[in-house]
Amino acid sequence: MSHVFRFGLIVSLVILTSCAKNPVTGRPEFQFIGAEKEIKMGESHYLHGQQASGGKYTLDPELSAYVDEVGKKLVSVSSRPSLPFEFVVLNDSVPNAWALPGGKIAVNRGLLTKLHNEAELAAVLGHEITHAAARHGAKSMERQLILSTSLAATNVALATASKDKNSGLTNGALMAGAGVAAGLVSTKYSREAELEADAYGMDYMVKAGYDPSAAVSLQQTFVKLSENKSTNWAKGLFASHPPSQERANTNLIRAKTMPKGLTLGQERYQQKIAQLKQREPAYDEYDKGVAAYKKGDLGHALQLANNAIQKEPKEALFYGLKGDVLAKQNVNDQALEAYQHAIARDANYFYYFHQRGILLDHMGRKQEAKLDLQHSQQLLPTDTADQLIKKMG
Ligand SMILES: [Zn+2]
Repeated sequence: MSHVFRFGLIVSLVILTSCAKNPVTGRPEFQFIGAEKEIKMGESHYLHGQQASGGKYTLDPELSAYVDEVGKKLVSVSSRPSLPFEFVVLNDSVPNAWALPGGKIAVNRGLLTKLHNEAELAAVLGHEITHAAARHGAKSMERQLILSTSLAATNVALATASKDKNSGLTNGALMAGAGVAAGLVSTKYSREAELEADAYGMDYMVKAGYDPSAAVSLQQTFVKLSENKSTNWAKGLFASHPPSQERANTNLIRAKTMPKGLTLGQERYQQKIAQLKQREPAYDEYDKGVAAYKKGDLGHALQLANNAIQKEPKEALFYGLKGDVLAKQNVNDQALEAYQHAIARDANYFYYFHQRGILLDHMGRKQEAKLDLQHSQQLLPTDTADQLIKKMG
């Protein structure tokens, strides 16, 4: 499923092409996406990128503030401290992290539970900060623009919004604009870009006072997990940042030349993710529930959703799944009630409005359906909602 993004200003882009220095490596390179454009791109796709990956993790604002704090510490010692960096934690069990051009970064809660200490978190964030600071995303867009044959109407097939991102809930096709965001989120970087992101990320770690050996243990964890071929990992971080023994070895050699005795921050990290760890069993039930739902095993899926709710009644996602199962079983009133519960807990995630809108439409309550679907479109445009709204006139 590839989504096509049209660059209208292609001619001016080409005229503006200039030879500049990479802000991180200092190497000369052609640039026609300037800093201002980079920042704008990141800002305009950040919300959609978040929505396409589970939305914000709202149950633990302290955890989000902590990730932001560690991120900002690294930014202040990076090569581009003036970029408007932002860090969020997303409500997704898939272990993943991504960076948009201009410095908009996200980490899934499913990755945070796999890390052992604050220095490993710094390794993840330093790596993502480098992707943004060194223009890796912008460069890959520039490459695609150059490669595309017709300059008159350059269509850049930016990306493939993977079908079952977000634990499988977002299976509606995303519309063009949102597809671009999903594509940026799953940009696959070159081997060189990965090594560069590791190298500079480690420099930032050391400058911020973190033990660089955490960049080695992190890669070792990734390699080990990728050998297990856990599907969750395959569609998360490993899809966009392939781990390798090469990366682990390179980081090890580099760490040996760096200062010793810096902070790992294990205790602090464990304390910060304690709440999240406590909720992990509830998310496990939910993830299994989504899998059962997708297989059509509705009875089991409902049971798992209820288990998850019992373990953590504050999580909106669990009610979302319950609503989906009940809607599929045509228990409409109860499904509606479940979506109501979800929205009462998190009114900033498109999915509940999307699903409630479809259900209300199905129940013949067109006016209410339209309001929900329009609201859903504002958060993350999907083809399904678009078509339903058009049908309503
Ligand atoms: Zn990477």
